[in-house]
Amino acid sequence: MKTSLLFLAATLVAVGPLSAAPMKALIIDGQNNHDWKNTTPALKKILEDTGLFSVDVTTTPPAGKDMSGFKPDFAAYRVIVSNYNGDSWPRETQESFVRYMRAGGGLVVQHAADNSFPEWREFNEMIGVGGWNGRNEKSGPYVRFVDGKLVRDMSPGSGGSHGQQHAFVIQARQPQHPIMAGLPAQWLHVKDELYDRMRGPAINMEVLASAYSDKAKGGSGFEEPMLMTITYGQGRVFHTVLGHGVEQLKCVGFIVTFQRGTEWAATGKVTQPVPLDFPTADKASVRP
Ligand code: ZN
Repeated sequence: MKTSLLFLAATLVAVGPLSAAPMKALIIDGQNNHDWKNTTPALKKILEDTGLFSVDVTTTPPAGKDMSGFKPDFAAYRVIVSNYNGDSWPRETQESFVRYMRAGGGLVVQHAADNSFPEWREFNEMIGVGGWNGRNEKSGPYVRFVDGKLVRDMSPGSGGSHGQQHAFVIQARQPQHPIMAGLPAQWLHVKDELYDRMRGPAINMEVLASAYSDKAKGGSGFEEPMLMTITYGQGRVFHTVLGHGVEQLKCVGFIVTFQRGTEWAATGKVTQPVPLDFPTADKASVRP
């Protein structure tokens, strides 16, 4: 009897955190020059597989249509995940999103979501750096590593490009950050676009990991930011430039950093262990 009570107590302790209600997350999609109709379900599953999140999806009207009815209740969610690259949101929705973030909201920006809204100052402060859609020196500096040091380069030129897709190594830059803690210092990401020449306000931004953009592959010749965190008011932002399409979202390195980054954006902590199938410096790892 005593033994079974102890066993019961131990079991209750063990399942305690899992039995907590999952946090609410909201993925925004509806316009993107990428395959959002297939990447959104993949991103949703990746987050729900953690047991930490229940994920809703809100889809904007198509490009060029009336956006005035697009008014998500941001405050109902611990974290917002943008898989959106398209028309401007209504001013009221922009203002509501800025209030949500200033008050301590969470935002995750994935791949081409950082192409959106070149004219929206607050959004660009949230994402740190962005690319394409007319970004240039007026958007802020280029941000990259030169001789191992993070450099903000104000030289003129357009923001955002990438060479041909290839597999590349992700290099940790802030290994002690909760999102990075326990991950290998270097790991091989699957064939993907390597964003380079990104530029933006880059304030209150930490670059957690970088990758070398090889000129031989059409890149910049610099170590470019791949994973970033930004604080905006009381809010937290995780920005990953990885993950062009569903094939890239199968990379365990993408999956794990996206799961951990979303938890950090939601709570400021990371409770997830590093899985055994995490890639190494010379071996990529994918899940079906
Ligand atoms: Zn892409």
